[in-house]
Amino acid sequence: MILLDRVSKSYGKRKSAVLQRVSLHIEAKEFVIVVGASGAGKSTLLKLLTREEKPTSGKIIVGGIDYETLKDRDVPKLRRKIGVVFQDFKLLPNKTVYENVAFALEIIGISTKEIKHTVPRVLDIVGLKDKQDNMPMELSGGERQRVAIARAIVRQPKILIADEPTGNLDPKHAWDVIRVLEKINKYGTTVILTTHNQEIVNKLKRRVVTVSDGKIASDDSSGKYTL
Ligand code: ADP
Repeated sequence: MILLDRVSKSYGKRKSAVLQRVSLHIEAKEFVIVVGASGAGKSTLLKLLTREEKPTSGKIIVGGIDYETLKDRDVPKLRRKIGVVFQDFKLLPNKTVYENVAFALEIIGISTKEIKHTVPRVLDIVGLKDKQDNMPMELSGGERQRVAIARAIVRQPKILIADEPTGNLDPKHAWDVIRVLEKINKYGTTVILTTHNQEIVNKLKRRVVTVSDGKIASDDSSGKYTL
């Protein structure tokens, strides 16, 4: 599903590479937690996957697409396969919960009929069906993040990248968000989660990839890794 082969990345004229010969293989339907100190290179790794950044060297293949031969005009198609959620939600403040999620379908030309069918189902998955007419301002942080997740999965991506999705949330709401990610993963979506939350890493018992100084310092699938 995701293959990185000796991928290096330097920004601009910076001599030292932010990522150095990183190799990583993630299978379809895996749930992978990426950890590492601030500045270690986690975001850069995720940006390479979403094609926001290009590697300086090395090979990236996602869902059978080799990024080396990927044309710029095909990037939007790639992005539909990858849903992304950020720490700061990025919802549209003047649209309702329903409209925020529907918008992701409108912009790719999905019919109103299909939108009406799909959006409530996705809001149900994230536990927000009864909040569909609320404005983002009227929701808790955890609920806002679950709207962002609904928006990210409404196009049924194969991969969901959640970059510090619980960074702004208290523990209860953080766990609500994590449980939703687990549910989505159970339905068959590959989930890549970055977090600094020790409790989440230790309790989830998932594969943990540690990025340190631009390298993969450890990759533990035993379910016993603790931070
Ligand atoms: P993390 O997500 O682990 O905090 P990042 O991937 O954001 O790490 O950053 C890794 C290193 O790359 C840092 O030293 C950061 O300053 C640098 N960096 C990140 N983005 C850019 C950029 N657009 N231009 C130059 N340097 C960058």
